[in-house]
Amino acid sequence: SYVGIHATTFYDFLLKPELIRAIKDCGFEHPSEVQQVCIPQSILGTDVLCQAKSGLGKTAVFVLSTLQQLEPSPGKISTIVICHTRELAYQIKNEYSRFSKYMPDVRTEVFYGGTDIKKDAEKLKNKETCPHIVVGTPGRLHALVREKFLRLNNIENFVIDECDKVLESFDMRRDIQDIFRSTPHQKQVMMFSATLSQDIRPICKKFMQNPLEIYVDDEAKLTLHGLQQYYIKLSEAEKNRKLSELLDNLEFNQVIIFVKSTARANELNNLLCQCNFPSIAVHSNMAQEERIARYRSFKEFNKRICVSTDVFGRGIDIERINLAINYDLPNEADQYLHRVGRAGRFGTKGLAISFVSSSADEEILSKIQDRFDVKIEDFPEEGVDPSTY
Ligand code: ADP
Ligand code: MG
Repeated sequence: SYVGIHATTFYDFLLKPELIRAIKDCGFEHPSEVQQVCIPQSILGTDVLCQAKSGLGKTAVFVLSTLQQLEPSPGKISTIVICHTRELAYQIKNEYSRFSKYMPDVRTEVFYGGTDIKKDAEKLKNKETCPHIVVGTPGRLHALVREKFLRLNNIENFVIDECDKVLESFDMRRDIQDIFRSTPHQKQVMMFSATLSQDIRPICKKFMQNPLEIYVDDEAKLTLHGLQQYYIKLSEAEKNRKLSELLDNLEFNQVIIFVKSTARANELNNLLCQCNFPSIAVHSNMAQEERIARYRSFKEFNKRICVSTDVFGRGIDIERINLAINYDLPNEADQYLHRVGRAGRFGTKGLAISFVSSSADEEILSKIQDRFDVKIEDFPEEGVDPSTY
């Protein structure tokens, strides 16, 4: 339930002028509802547990409020932000860079696996290069803490993005607990996700003291209003043909196509490239530099089609995506919501199309419709008016 005083402009938050300038440069005019509710409290150091729809600006809540509170001092790490994938960590680091551009003393670094840990250690050792804000994934951060390269005794803000995903995984949860234990008792803890089941909430709250709790109380309200959602029934063998027909006929800026495995991502990507579709594949089974390079290349609009496993299923924000295709349906309803949320960011319009090719798919489809109280229609024969997505 949304409570509290609703400010209507970023000025009302009484942020530092350096932040206000950066917000203006980003083209943000009005705070979104979740920002209006959270920021006035989060800048005061209150713990926050926040569930709010995909694409409505949860990142800016923690980025702005931690930058607002930060007084950078050499060698002192004040903020740690943890999330579940490397690309998301990289994206969050860039958000910090964007919003701290008028705070020249502030340094942010991102640490994740698949890269040389010695380089991370080197940066952390030096007072001149030691960041004030650390963003990363659980495994690497845990390793850096364990090896005593990363010292968290000055931490003032502890943030977990996509917290349900992070805390539901046994390995990541164990890493988080260890990392958490090496931070001071007195600190701000903030956690965010678009999905926070009743079961995971108490687990999140164990890390917090008297948090501000923001939930979309009615799960049906999670429905993304600008997003049109359709399904297409077909056999497995018909998928490629249908896909190429859609890519030919739909007007999209960028499209993300979700598949269920790395092998399928590679295969489908090769096939699309052979048919002269400008496509790129992203999955977890490739060298880390390559993964980030592909993420950037897609974000910078060098390619218009991205074939992805669930590594891009959550949190990734690419403004130009207005079409999401589930070539393979996910096997849980929540994951559907995260995936299709990649199209139609910040209340913009979008189109989501899901291939349904088995009875298991049909079950998932009906679960999704019940859970989010949304009617997913059969994709119309005549297509969809491009001005509506
Ligand atoms: P979430 O984490 O809630 O899914 P993000 O933080 O990724 O959403 O934000 C989605 C997009 O909306 C980003 O491109 C972000 O820059 C943009 N955005 C966030 N807040 C605002 C705002 N107040 N005005 C305009 N755009 C915004
Ligand atoms: Mg997010």
